[in-house]
Amino acid sequence: MKSDFTKPLKILVVEDSLVDRTLLQELLPKSPLPISEVKSAESLNAAFELLDKNHFDVVLLDLHLPDSKGLDTLVRISEKYPRVSNVVITGKYDSDLGLKAITQGAQEYLIKGSYNIDTLSKSINYAIERKKVECKLQLTEERYRTIFENSAVAITMTDEQERLVSWNKFTEELLGMNGEDLHLRPVKSLYPAEEWEKIRIYGVRQKGMQYHLETKMIKKNSEVIDVDISLSVLKNSEGKTTGSIGVIRDITDRKKAEKKAKKTMEIESQFISTVSHELRTPLGCIKEGVDIVLDGVVGKINNKQKDFLNLAKRNVDRLSDLVDDILDLQKLGAGRTKLDMQENDITRVLVEAYKTMASSAKKKGVDFSLKLEDNLPKTRFDSDKVIQVLTNLLSNAIKFTPEHGQVSVCAQHESEELVIRVSDTGMGIPKKDLPKIFDKFYRVYRPGKQIQGTGLGLAIVKKIVMMHSGRVEVETEVGQGTTFTVFLPLAGKSIPDVPSAETDKVLENNLVNN
Ligand code: ATP
Ligand code: MG
Repeated sequence: MKSDFTKPLKILVVEDSLVDRTLLQELLPKSPLPISEVKSAESLNAAFELLDKNHFDVVLLDLHLPDSKGLDTLVRISEKYPRVSNVVITGKYDSDLGLKAITQGAQEYLIKGSYNIDTLSKSINYAIERKKVECKLQLTEERYRTIFENSAVAITMTDEQERLVSWNKFTEELLGMNGEDLHLRPVKSLYPAEEWEKIRIYGVRQKGMQYHLETKMIKKNSEVIDVDISLSVLKNSEGKTTGSIGVIRDITDRKKAEKKAKKTMEIESQFISTVSHELRTPLGCIKEGVDIVLDGVVGKINNKQKDFLNLAKRNVDRLSDLVDDILDLQKLGAGRTKLDMQENDITRVLVEAYKTMASSAKKKGVDFSLKLEDNLPKTRFDSDKVIQVLTNLLSNAIKFTPEHGQVSVCAQHESEELVIRVSDTGMGIPKKDLPKIFDKFYRVYRPGKQIQGTGLGLAIVKKIVMMHSGRVEVETEVGQGTTFTVFLPLAGKSIPDVPSAETDKVLENNLVNN
């Protein structure tokens, strides 16, 4: 017989009959197993004394001893020494007891008078292996129990009649209930009637699957809480539902915060759109009035008056640009802007943006160039919105590049994306400002330099690009220049209602700090 034991085995024979004890003591040294020591005890108490002082791998245990009778002998020894393997030895006409002993934790049993050196060795070998497996299983179970008990989520288990049979400490905390409240409690009673109805309609149990849902539960003090539940249905080998496991998280605070944020956003957006619309009309009137006076329609004006009116006109234009930007951003943020996704030619769009910005580049004395790759593929995007992205990036590049500097825009086709780069040789962006430049109203503090703007351009760029499922990256070096790169997927899928917190996160990840 092959044995895998690395250590010699120590065996304890617990047997009150001299004949049986002697037989075992004679047989064991002849076994092919690496047995190094065999000791014996005539009673259970004598066995306890030996087990207290020595390590034994296996106990060969007669159940009928002077100081202990029947299965109780096994129970007492295995409770006191749980790591020792027990081979129970029963009388010839008592084989039922052997089987019962197995169900009570013995690893193997032998019938007196019917074993030989071979069967005895096999039984010892088997008992040791079985104990090892049991120990491993116990360890795994202990690990799972630790996770189960110490989880910061409530975990519950129900039986086939939808009653609670097991739960962890956190469940009691979550529901404000104790073990007595929960034991065999119908799960139905933990939900408001209408919520239970919804869970029933999902038919989780019948479909036999995992299910994730947000619902409400009732605490012991009748307080109703919002919860997020992951349910798994348990089935036996015949496919019959035997219960379910629920992992429950309290999301009451999150729900409250969401509600509050939604309300604040609604109020904010209502306020912004009212104020902006109220500003637009009088601004239009001022602009028209100034234009009429400037054109001399209502009388001749002198040069000084003209200068003042031109100054007023420039400021009115700035103000109406600002109002437009705020309205745009508010509409984009509220998901009220739907993209007009069409198959478009990026070359045409780039040329249009280039033409729009060429005069301001010239005015600033900045060299402005457009580089296009041949045969750029047509792709689906909203051309007005992409022009808005480009004019914002180009206006920044021109604005933050001193005279004689260079600004260029180019487009390329790279793997599955359309890549547009706006580069300049301007003042660059300090590293510490990079994570914030796409925030609304954020402007880099540049002492001694008066550069106009409100800090909305990049916020608009970011929203539009994200709505196209694209991304923006920025590479910059203070005093050397900046390159903004826009990646648009060629597939042109659109996600019109991207929540802003999510877009912010994606974008932060996309920032390349140089
Ligand atoms: P607005 O676009 O609303 O008129 P703005 O240009 O200041 O105002 P954004 O376009 O949002 O605002 O840009 C935010 C900040 O990022 C700018 O204030 C600027 O400091 C910095 N920035 C953006 N582009 C560049 C660039 N190409 N070079 C240097 N700094 C830049
Ligand atoms: Mg700008």
